[in-house]
Amino acid sequence: MRTPTYTPPDREDSLDRAASSDLDVLIIGGGITGVGIALDAVTRGYRVALVERDDLASGTSSKSSKLVHGGVRYLAQYDFGLVAEAVRERDLLRRIAPHLVRPLGFVVPVDDRKTHAEMKAGLLLYDGIAAFRNVDRHRRLAAFEVADTAPSLRPDLADLGGYRYWDCQTDDARLVIAIADVARRAGALIVNHCTVERLRHVAGRIGGALVTDRLTGASAELRARWVVSATGVWAGESVRAADPSRHLAIEPSKGVHITLRARDLPVGDAVIVPSGEPDGRKVFVVPWGEQVYVGTTDEPHRGGLDDYGVDPTDAGYLLHAVNQAFDAHLSVTDVIGAWAGLRPLIRGDASRTADLSRRHAIVEGPRGFVTVTGGKLTTFRQMAEDVVDRLVARDGVKSPCMTHRLPLGTHGTAQEGIGRLRAVATTLDVDPDVAAPLFLRYGDSAADVLTFCLRTDGVDRLVPELPYLRGEVRWAVRRELARSVDDVMQRRLRVSLRHDAAGGPAIGFVADVLAEELGWSGEQRSTSIEAYLAEVARERGLVPLDRSWQGSEAEDLGEARPVVSRGPE
Ligand code: FAD
Repeated sequence: MRTPTYTPPDREDSLDRAASSDLDVLIIGGGITGVGIALDAVTRGYRVALVERDDLASGTSSKSSKLVHGGVRYLAQYDFGLVAEAVRERDLLRRIAPHLVRPLGFVVPVDDRKTHAEMKAGLLLYDGIAAFRNVDRHRRLAAFEVADTAPSLRPDLADLGGYRYWDCQTDDARLVIAIADVARRAGALIVNHCTVERLRHVAGRIGGALVTDRLTGASAELRARWVVSATGVWAGESVRAADPSRHLAIEPSKGVHITLRARDLPVGDAVIVPSGEPDGRKVFVVPWGEQVYVGTTDEPHRGGLDDYGVDPTDAGYLLHAVNQAFDAHLSVTDVIGAWAGLRPLIRGDASRTADLSRRHAIVEGPRGFVTVTGGKLTTFRQMAEDVVDRLVARDGVKSPCMTHRLPLGTHGTAQEGIGRLRAVATTLDVDPDVAAPLFLRYGDSAADVLTFCLRTDGVDRLVPELPYLRGEVRWAVRRELARSVDDVMQRRLRVSLRHDAAGGPAIGFVADVLAEELGWSGEQRSTSIEAYLAEVARERGLVPLDRSWQGSEAEDLGEARPVVSRGPE
């Protein structure tokens, strides 16, 4: 692929260009599936545009458990094919995005012989399927080794020791943003905050869409030979819009997570414990820097697709699970963040959503329209390959997929990258400890981010407890299409998930930067702050959102701040 000279993203120009082109492929939805398809299609020579009605990754793709995993538990469903596909993709992603897909040990404490025998057989099979693609082989742990990684775990839960196996952890939203960036650099037109209102029906087929730019209110008509719906749990709606006589049955399955301070629940690896309820489900505790998150998935969801969050039962369930498994007395006031997501599962015969397959489905029709949904974050690349293979086959052209060897922002290993960035930081007289977290967010661009921060808003922490730098906010606006406080705090930086006050006083600074960059009025600034806080509060449910910092900020939320131009990069 030819690497064009770098130009920063220009959202409005991208929409103009999409409207004045004859596109080959228009993708609806900027989650992991949509950006994966954009990358695959553009690198096979198609003219591609992607529109996302909210922000990149604002759907399920920022609400996952943030694991790139083979799916040990799918072995119980005898879905060996899915496990084989997932471990292959896990291995590929570790190589093409080592900064974002990093090994993580999973420890399962064992207290009875039956579980011991099942774990032993299951993990032998898991490692066997992964073969040479494994992060490392599983290992039996003695009780003291389980205690080493989870010092406050109730000792009787590990009476027979435990097991450690390997999967990977990621930052789901940043993975989406990284893929979108590589796709954009390869020529795809990526437009967030742009809704598909209607599909274009042209001569018996779908030939594009009518879209509304939600930031300007302007409408545009996009012409495309293929329209691909990658709308996750909303896929049923787009299929109906394409042809009201068609029906795609999606069974949304809800998952919830709460974030705690790591000191309240210290773990060195991810630890899987029983929920302590008769349902026999498991809860996982995952380390995340100075924080840990606790989650469980697979609760059937009967409500609307846009108005769900962490309800009191969800938070209580997770807290009860950790309190009974660990020497902990945690209550909702110890929770510093929470999120909920809906998994798009294709409806089948299974009585529990946990038993529905994580495989993806591609549905063609009406002519010119393809829908893809289901699947997992882990398997997005394969999903995209399968979709674009179909388009290529229908077009009767030969154009092989190349995404399995396309770096997603890093060349070489994460260790090498961090080492290089530490040297750059030292030369710039910056604390070299900023290097590791910064590299793990930006890969090879991290050195540019660091120098950009130094030239603009500096390298002080945005929020003292979190590793994000003040200068990253402006980078998010100029380089990563962030257009609201929510875009910055929820997805470019994961402040909302990791901080009791969702950023607290830093929120005002973030809004100031957006106001400067985008020429906002005071009213736009305060609307963006309030929209962010309302969204966080809605999703957290009963989990408190500390707004005490607003005392001093509140009076001037509506006033425009003096604009201090930071100049060019
Ligand atoms: P989404 O991310 O939901 O994207 C669809 C997008 O379409 C949305 O952003 C939406 O705004 C947009 N859209 C809809 N209608 C329109 C329109 N009219 N115009 C424009 N845009 C539109 N998988 C893993 O591999 N590992 C995990 O650890 C994991 N954990 C999970 C935990 C939970 C709680 C859940 C719910 C899922 C988890 N998954 C995990 C699964 C994974 O997160 C999803 O399969 C994946 O994120 C779905 O991505 P998507 O792009 O298909 O959908």
